[in-house]
Amino acid sequence: MKITNEIVHHKAIALGFDLVGFSKAELLTEEIDNLKSWLDKSHHSGMSYMERNIDKRQDVSLILEDAKSVISLGMNYYVKGEFSNLPEFGKVSRYAWGKDYHLVMWEKLDELIIELKEIDPKFEAKSYVDTGPVMDKAWAKRGGLGWVGKHSNIINKQIGSWFFIAAIITNYEFESTPIITDHCGSCTACIDACPTNAIVEPYVVDANKCISYLTIENKGEIPNEFKDKFEGWIFGCDICQDVCPWNKKFATETLVEEFRSTENKEIELTTVSELTNSQFKKKYFTSPISRARLKGLKRNAEFLDN
Ligand code: SF4
Ligand code: SF4
Repeated sequence: MKITNEIVHHKAIALGFDLVGFSKAELLTEEIDNLKSWLDKSHHSGMSYMERNIDKRQDVSLILEDAKSVISLGMNYYVKGEFSNLPEFGKVSRYAWGKDYHLVMWEKLDELIIELKEIDPKFEAKSYVDTGPVMDKAWAKRGGLGWVGKHSNIINKQIGSWFFIAAIITNYEFESTPIITDHCGSCTACIDACPTNAIVEPYVVDANKCISYLTIENKGEIPNEFKDKFEGWIFGCDICQDVCPWNKKFATETLVEEFRSTENKEIELTTVSELTNSQFKKKYFTSPISRARLKGLKRNAEFLDN
């Protein structure tokens, strides 16, 4: 039996995805030009892995030889929750309040691929969630999940930007979903609200200045020029998404149980300095916070505390 767009859509929604879109597996020429110009300006800071596998990022047939389409999927992770805003607590980015999205989405993607293969054994696929040389945001845009906002996240008209993105490269030919035009208009709320001026021009974020990068991926010290500019963020930063009118108006709570948690919403700074490596591993074993490692989390807590 042939797999149709409708079948994929139906199965993905049943598994807990909120958005599904399709695009042709064409070369990402313009997107790669933008990436190269971003890299040339060293906006990727210490993320040297971004410089690698440019050819695969551009051409998904180097990942799956017979690639014909890319299925883009979005999964809402929004949960309501207010911060105490007390100086003794550090704020955690909303995406890390619950279980690590990789673990949740990998499982659902595997299940989706198994179900599609059962319909047609000729269906071949490789899936990616934010890892590997795949331009998932570019594919999400091409697959009609939304447009790239000036803060560089994908915004969907129905649910805003609080969603994770996955990409499935497949040998199957699907009908493409129409692209969504940019609806940022004259708004500059995210640019104006960013406390470190990391959105250096519309649609361009300089990781060297971004609290998200500085508190998570960054392996070095946090430069002193950002002292008193972190607004209490210990892991990641949501300011540019919090102020976005599309989120203020359209964010709805996720139904995915693993994300419906506020357990790690904030972290008491003094508890971080006392944390041992084994306690850290045990506490954040299935949390995205493990990405910062204990050393990074301690550095962030000290940066906020001093
Ligand atoms: S995540 Fe925070 S620091 Fe980074 S661009 Fe957005 S508002 Fe600025
Ligand atoms: S805050 Fe405004 S400019 Fe920024 S992404 Fe949202 S709509 Fe676009």
